[in-house]
Amino acid sequence: MVRSDIRVCSAWESAHDRPVYTLSQQCPECGADAVNSAPARFGPEDPYGAYRRALKRRARD
Ligand SMILES: [Zn+2]
Repeated sequence: MVRSDIRVCSAWESAHDRPVYTLSQQCPECGADAVNSAPARFGPEDPYGAYRRALKRRARD
């Protein structure tokens, strides 16, 4: 699966009012590291996937 190359400033919460997205490895505004923009706060697919799989398994049993 090809993930998005969009990154987000790792220091945006202290350095900016809002997330600063970039395609480079550095924030263009403050120079901090830019990190993969799939932070935990957006909820990785996994918890829901595991939850659904668990439900499915239970329903089948
Ligand atoms: Zn920044």
